[in-house]
Amino acid sequence: MIANIKETVSSFVEDTTRKLSLAQYVNGVIEEVKKRNKGDEEFHQAVEEVLKSLEPVLDKHPEYIEERILERLVEPERQIMFRVPWVDDNGDIQVNRGYRIQFNSAIGPYKGGLRFHPSVNASIVKFLGFEQIFKNSLTGLPIGGGKGGSDFDPKGKSDREIMRFCQSFMAELQQHIGPDVDVPAGDIGVGGREIGYLFGQYKKLRNANESGVLTGKGLNYGGSLARVEATGYGLIYFVDEMLKEHNHDLRCKKVVISGSGNVAIYAAEKVQELGACVIAMSDSNGYIVDEEGIDVELVKQIKEVERKRIKEYAKRKAGAYYFEGQKGIWSLKCDIALPCATQNDISLEEAKLLVENNVIAIGEGANMPCTNEAVNYLLENNVLLAPAKAANAGGVATSALEMAQNSMRLSWTFEEVDAKLKEIMINIFNASKEAAKEYGSEGNYVVGANIAGFLKVADAMMSQGII
Ligand code: NDP
Repeated sequence: MIANIKETVSSFVEDTTRKLSLAQYVNGVIEEVKKRNKGDEEFHQAVEEVLKSLEPVLDKHPEYIEERILERLVEPERQIMFRVPWVDDNGDIQVNRGYRIQFNSAIGPYKGGLRFHPSVNASIVKFLGFEQIFKNSLTGLPIGGGKGGSDFDPKGKSDREIMRFCQSFMAELQQHIGPDVDVPAGDIGVGGREIGYLFGQYKKLRNANESGVLTGKGLNYGGSLARVEATGYGLIYFVDEMLKEHNHDLRCKKVVISGSGNVAIYAAEKVQELGACVIAMSDSNGYIVDEEGIDVELVKQIKEVERKRIKEYAKRKAGAYYFEGQKGIWSLKCDIALPCATQNDISLEEAKLLVENNVIAIGEGANMPCTNEAVNYLLENNVLLAPAKAANAGGVATSALEMAQNSMRLSWTFEEVDAKLKEIMINIFNASKEAAKEYGSEGNYVVGANIAGFLKVADAMMSQGII
């Protein structure tokens, strides 16, 4: 009896000591990242969230520690920063800063969008590039992680100004990318118009019609059907699967969506198609409430066609209201919240409001829209959380399908692409679910997605030696 107790106590002590030293090791890597990347707060946040969830994996696979996989993973393979001079409509010279971060190519060419927004800096690009490694791995397709952009603000610029900026941006970027090297796409502020100008300039400078160099292209020059819809639709396929797993469904659910850009619009379209009712959407100035259900076609007309502000909606739709301010939208009572605008949209304060209002699920359409404190609070309060890496991976997955069509020089129908997208999203959900279960965090899809995404990249890095 006493021998048994001694054995139990000593194995408990051994176990606790091992876990403590694992936590110390992971914290050490995080501290080093903070030291080397001073002030890059968004990047610190993204690294901390991923690395802390990997402790059970390291416990089972000490070889990742021996091979210094974490230390190598947090250091980008290459970072490019460049000057982007351009001439505005008044003939004045403007200068912006361009970025491309080629984070990890263990499983395929770098792949990730370009963001044009005044807030873009090295930290934002690094956090997005880091997240992209795991997201791309989760798709099951052979794509590595990268990201880029500029602090250029497309708002209020004429088409010609946008074109001149894109041409100057690509004049530098072209030497760093290629269909088998690095394949950029859109993100905030970069849609079909910008991709068109970027592609035209690449083609001219390289004298090569390499359609696989960019994704999100127009349908008449190598784009894929369903790419525009893919991130938003994919998000809803994931959320639907997650709800079903927990005996819920989308029918008659009240949904609140932040943002009114590409991801937000197509998430709204799909979720309403599946029987839910979107009661609010926003932009960076304020939000609209329409209890009858948002008219998505009207939002498309205002935001995509006319490029106007979301407040126009309330002027044109009877019974709809507009409120100033970015975050007030999270005080609305809803069953499902879909942050589809930008990072750190939901902090602890908004998470508390959502929980008070009995939210069932959060689907992260944007990248890192919840702070780490908000994520922890939501999970502690049993809110179902579909993490961005997994839930918004439909966009990049469909980009990889666009690359596949470009290589084959043929195109699939909308239905074919949409069916593949749905299958990929269900696979991502299952991979996240299984990994969470295997590593002791059943039902925690944040941890599950991090682990499932990490394993494939780590193993590929192990196979390829120390490079
Ligand atoms: P868009 O530029 O099409 O739309 C962005 C929307 O978010 C706009 O409504 C914009 O408002 C709002 N927004 C942007 N910045 C802020 C801010 N600082 N505060 C409040 N609102 C803001 O971008 P996408 O829809 O493409 O991207 C949205 C999110 O989804 C991003 O986090 C992006 O990284 C992520 N994502 C996008 C993918 C894609 O395929 N496009 C793929 C995976 C993730 P306003 O009009 O006022 O600027």
